[in-house]
Amino acid sequence: MTPFLQQARPCVQHLAPYQPGKPINELQRELGLTRVVKLASNENPLGPSPKALAALQQAVQGDPVELGRYPDGNGFILKQALSQRFGLSLDGITLGNGSNDVLELVARAFLGEGDDAIFAEHAFAVYPLAVQAVGARGIAVPARHYGHDLPAMAAAITPATKVIFLANPNNPTGTWFEAADFTAFMAQVPAHIVVVLDEAYGEFVTAPDALDGLKELPKHPNLIVSRTLAKAYGLASLRVGYAVSSAEITNIINRVRQPFNVNSLALIAAAAAINDDEFVAKTRDLNQAGMQQWLTGLAALGLSAIPSRGNFLCVDMQQDAAPLFQALLREGVIVRPVANYGLPRHLRISIGLAEENEFGLEALARVLAASRSPA
Ligand SMILES: *Cc1c(COP(=O)(O)O)cnc(C)c1O
Repeated sequence: MTPFLQQARPCVQHLAPYQPGKPINELQRELGLTRVVKLASNENPLGPSPKALAALQQAVQGDPVELGRYPDGNGFILKQALSQRFGLSLDGITLGNGSNDVLELVARAFLGEGDDAIFAEHAFAVYPLAVQAVGARGIAVPARHYGHDLPAMAAAITPATKVIFLANPNNPTGTWFEAADFTAFMAQVPAHIVVVLDEAYGEFVTAPDALDGLKELPKHPNLIVSRTLAKAYGLASLRVGYAVSSAEITNIINRVRQPFNVNSLALIAAAAAINDDEFVAKTRDLNQAGMQQWLTGLAALGLSAIPSRGNFLCVDMQQDAAPLFQALLREGVIVRPVANYGLPRHLRISIGLAEENEFGLEALARVLAASRSPA
């Protein structure tokens, strides 16, 4: 162990940093490729909401001096927009520098040494990271058909459990649970345990009877619903997300929030994007068509994916996926290996534009053919 690592808190010594998707320009630099398609981070292939872009342009050109000032630490314009859009009370909204930030705030506010947090096997990597970083114990409950086994998660509760993280739909698997499953689960959870329902992909869900966390809030004072502007609204680079909870819980998690955690351009863009229904509908339609394109293309290659309600597919490569990931990079296609999620034979592929999906499918066909032919 290196000298300063020895100085670090034991829980930090064992932390493996989050592995982000490879940036496009990095791959271009490394391999000198002209065309690179990134299907690795579940971003919106259409880019940002046009309403957000217009608001940003106006903000930068109209009053550049504002950029020299600190942002509104209370994020009023965004909270007001969220409040009007979803009928929320202002004192129940927490803004985050991405919803990652919100997840960390919950961990820092509620968890420490001696506490337990529960999440599912194959669930979003930020849950174990945030839990470990504060010295608490993470309990990963084995998945069922790759998704959350809610009854088993309820059964895993210990006297030390303070927080449970649920992702619906989950990343990287795309799996989901129904409203009735959630209701049955909540009935098993003691009222003092905080439940985080992460709906980062909620806007992509088209099923009419799907679970909607915001509607559940009045029934469960221990519930925190987190959402992001990074995916369906196309604002990943600006870093903005939010949590909705009771005023009491909101007050607690805001105690550990940095005073200016959401920058002013993110606030402006998000406040505009949240009302861009047309863009979200277009995004959802594109996603549905792209997912069908991938499912058809994958079937032709003899492959299948875990059924997904997100903007990505977790594809079973029927072999160690690491060499295929590398071969796809050489083809200019960036996808996401998920071995660190306990899925060494899968690759997670974000749904792109039609031509990006086609480029990805053609590359996949070539690398599969090469991997299957004897050397
Ligand atoms: C992408 C993602 C988030 C958060 O993204 P931010 O960019 O930090 O808002 C949260 N949860 C899940 C499951 C995600 O996939």
